[in-house]
Amino acid sequence: MAENPIHRSDYVVVGAGSAGSVVVRRLLDAGHTVHVIEAGSVDTDPNIHSPQGWPLLLTGANDWAVMTTPQRHAHNRSLYWPRGRVLGGSSSLNGMIYIRGHKNDYDSWAANGAEGWSWNEVLPLFKKSEDHEDGANDFHGKGGPLHVERIARRHPAAQAFVDAAKALGHTETEDFNGIQMTGVGFNHTTTKDGKRASAWQSFVAPVLNHPNLTVTTDALVSRIVVDGGRATGVEYHRDGEVLRADAGAEVIISAGAIGSPKILLLSGIGPAAQLRSVGIDSVVDLPGVGENLHDHLLAGNIYEAQEPLVAGRHNLLESQLYAHSNQTDEEAPDLQPLFLHLPYPTDGGAAPEHGYTIAPGIVRPRSRGTLRLSSADPAAAPLVDPNILADEYDVKALVDAIVLCREIGQQEAFAPFRKSEFTPGPGVQSRDQLREFARQVAGTYHHQVGTCKMGVDDLSVVDPQLRVRGIEGLRVADASIIPSVPSGNTNAPSIMIGEKAAELILGA
Ligand SMILES: Cc1cc2nc3c(=O)[nH]c(=O)nc-3n(C[C@H](O)[C@H](O)[C@H](O)COP(=O)(O)OP(=O)(O)OC[C@H]3O[C@@H](n4cnc5c(N)ncnc54)[C@H](O)[C@@H]3O)c2cc1C
Repeated sequence: MAENPIHRSDYVVVGAGSAGSVVVRRLLDAGHTVHVIEAGSVDTDPNIHSPQGWPLLLTGANDWAVMTTPQRHAHNRSLYWPRGRVLGGSSSLNGMIYIRGHKNDYDSWAANGAEGWSWNEVLPLFKKSEDHEDGANDFHGKGGPLHVERIARRHPAAQAFVDAAKALGHTETEDFNGIQMTGVGFNHTTTKDGKRASAWQSFVAPVLNHPNLTVTTDALVSRIVVDGGRATGVEYHRDGEVLRADAGAEVIISAGAIGSPKILLLSGIGPAAQLRSVGIDSVVDLPGVGENLHDHLLAGNIYEAQEPLVAGRHNLLESQLYAHSNQTDEEAPDLQPLFLHLPYPTDGGAAPEHGYTIAPGIVRPRSRGTLRLSSADPAAAPLVDPNILADEYDVKALVDAIVLCREIGQQEAFAPFRKSEFTPGPGVQSRDQLREFARQVAGTYHHQVGTCKMGVDDLSVVDPQLRVRGIEGLRVADASIIPSVPSGNTNAPSIMIGEKAAELILGA
């Protein structure tokens, strides 16, 4: 039988998500041949492109639908984590909120050894990607591939959220990425002409016919091929065959916070003893692979509405608040309550037929978990244990967030909409009851990071150049390299990481 031909290019990029799409585009622009390999399919589902479609994508064909291990500090519940498995990755099913986090988040990365990643060094990269409808200014870029815009037709209930928070003394902010992050206001979103601006659609779709580009979809990368200490390509499974793609220059793993550590572990790059226990020979003993898993958390403060809310015309996540819990005196806010036009039970539990949610969010969690292989089979789901609410700080901050959301929900501004509070419900009042409620319902804010941490300590997986320690020709570029999660949504940071990776590769 004839052997399958090996496809060769300068760069192999694994994963066509938020960061991977940027890497692909920038390497193409620089004249290189690029082969991007994606486990998911083409982004044809119309719900990907409609800004209101994202709730309909959850658990569907384009979702990895990760389930965590039972969470011992959250009543042994397994949490459902949607993750994009499609061109665009999670940027094809996310909520389209464009937020970068606080400048101190990045300065603390740099202070902990991530040289080159301070706020002043990454701000130009955020701007480089961006095509903000307001034009270029100190905080925003114009002319980049990623369109960012304001919400033009505001929903009255999202406006009520802003008015209610203001009535409680919170100041209004025009731009969470601008001079003042703390306060209440309307989000800016990655949308254009009434459609989602995913990373794939923004960065790669416009150059899809580029002669130097090869796109392989529906292909599960199972292993990095390492020869004499150097990554020379990857192996992937497609249509029942095992195929190989070779990289003349480098392999870039951009498979996300779950996919990237899994591929490294399957390749023998990770904690040697742990890998031996699932029958994988060690290639490099890197104890940090799969450690440091963390995520922002949400808990539902859901209201039954008097009647169905008028349909949202944007992303159903129009307004939010940045505030401080009683647990911090840092400049950066640690709470990010979010208004949703729909009932959003974070534990997948009951919901009223008509309603809305003021979602208490905590954005500087201290709990840390792990990702491990369950077996050496590339098709097997890994053991994902975020260990939520293990740290008392997180429990207290989440209770503070719930209290704050309830105060907002009781304001006069919501009188035209509110019928009654659905969760936590009138029977849950004391802080002890709220702690219990938090453990019963806490779920993901969808911002998992940290499993291939960048840094200089023993648990770092990549150095500040994003090079995997101990292997030549191999980088990781996606949310997995984030050492500590920024105080904001993680799509814009992942896109920035793609920009930075491309600069580092091209400068090398
Ligand atoms: C429901 C939801 C809502 C969200 N809302 C927002 C929001 O409003 N704003 C915001 O900023 N952030 C939001 N996020 C988070 C944000 O979208 C992610 O943090 C970001 O997209 C992560 O980018 P990434 O490049 O690390 O990974 P991804 O974008 O997830 O890309 C990884 C890609 O790698 C592929 N892959 C994985 N394993 C393999 C393999 N073995 N072989 C081949 N390919 C593989 C995946 O299929 C995927 O396409 C949300 C996320 C979700 C899931």
